[in-house]
Amino acid sequence: MAGEEKDGKIPRTTEFEFMGPIGSVLMLVSLPLTVYYLYFACQPESCSMFDLPKVTFDLSDFLDRDAVLIFIGWMLFQTLLYLAPIGTETEGVVLRNGTRLIYKINAFYVVIVSFAMFGLGVYYDYPLHVLYDKYLQLATTAIIFSYLLSLYLYIKAAMGPPSAIAPRGNSGYFVYDFFMGHELNPRIGKFDLKYFCELRPGLIGWALLNFGMVLKIYERGEQPTAAILLVCFFQAVYVVDALWHEKSILTTMDIVHDGFGFMLVFGDLAWVPFTYSLQARYLVDHPVHLSNLAVAAIIGLKLAGFMIFRGSNSQKDAFRRNPNDPALKHLKSIPTQAGSRLLVSGWWGMVRHPNYLGDILMAISWSLPCGFNSILPWFYPLYFIVLLIHREWRDSHECKKKYGQDWDHYCSLVKYRIVPYVY
Ligand code: NDP
Repeated sequence: MAGEEKDGKIPRTTEFEFMGPIGSVLMLVSLPLTVYYLYFACQPESCSMFDLPKVTFDLSDFLDRDAVLIFIGWMLFQTLLYLAPIGTETEGVVLRNGTRLIYKINAFYVVIVSFAMFGLGVYYDYPLHVLYDKYLQLATTAIIFSYLLSLYLYIKAAMGPPSAIAPRGNSGYFVYDFFMGHELNPRIGKFDLKYFCELRPGLIGWALLNFGMVLKIYERGEQPTAAILLVCFFQAVYVVDALWHEKSILTTMDIVHDGFGFMLVFGDLAWVPFTYSLQARYLVDHPVHLSNLAVAAIIGLKLAGFMIFRGSNSQKDAFRRNPNDPALKHLKSIPTQAGSRLLVSGWWGMVRHPNYLGDILMAISWSLPCGFNSILPWFYPLYFIVLLIHREWRDSHECKKKYGQDWDHYCSLVKYRIVPYVY
């Protein structure tokens, strides 16, 4: 990004991410293919990186009416809950034009209602194992929907006011802006599309897909193992925690800097639910029996990861909201020319991204219950480490631009990026 905007016009994006337009084309094709690859490579007969079962190209195997109805019904249900007159409102960060947007805070109620509705479905014997049976068709629907929504978002942005454009998705290359997101905060009236998609349909959908995997085991007349119950419980806790702390998302990179385009739309609605649920899907057909010691060790790792993740995210959030909060007076921070101070003690004095470290430890604890017979259920932690290393690099680059020499000073005080004494 270069130059300053005049008359509300956002300057052209000149610094490309993800290898620019060519990288964007590769992502647009390879990300959905990865979802399919994981599905076809991990099947009841075998779950291996190399033994690809025969892929049928019968359209009805990929897409059917029931899956489309479930997906649309789910999106409408989530929209209704978002709009319901329940919850509170809060302001987002200050935008480039000096104003702030108002955001609805009711995601915690939404997840409780969603889980309760699912529970009612189970109680009334509704065949919710359909989530396992129609997994592929549901994934295809989510992928098609992501392309369509991204196209709508691009057109909406192109026809909207220039001041609404996202600085990172304003290169003039259609494919790049389509991927990165051309508009920063697309809204229909008060309905904020990015904010809605970031935490609700995909994240809650992921937890429910997991529950659907457990129901498939019951439908077969079998009993779920501790391994699958741990995975479902851990991931449900992660989802509920994110929704409980809904407000914190308003200061994240996704909301503050990234436009809403295919990268986030697909990430939120297709990638998260249909790749993050791989561990549970694996354990339906490849049960793992854990010893009590293994269960205890896995729970210990999850708790440690959660403590670091939640402790550091809440600490920074509280500090950014009120640096003079008496509860934080024991923490040291350094002033910067840019205005906001940087923490140099507590979690943020340990490494530059303690929240990523906690997230990675939790990710490992979600795959350990799957054992080591197949690498595929380890896809999530492996991919996530790459994602967070890249994200740390992106964030550090932005912080350097924002804080200049003060950032260098901070880095000299807090030497490690994610893992103390290692990285
Ligand atoms: P962070 O919450 O890590 O925020 C980074 C920002 O924090 C910086 O840009 C800077 O912004 C501020 N900051 C950096 N260092 C300091 C400091 N020392 N003191 C005070 N402020 C500081 O950003 P993310 O959005 O990447 O991550 C949020 C959470 O989401 C993480 O826990 C991450 O693991 C998780 N996540 C999960 C994903 C998933 O798929 N499960 C995907 C991506 C993220 P400024 O100074 O401008 O305020």
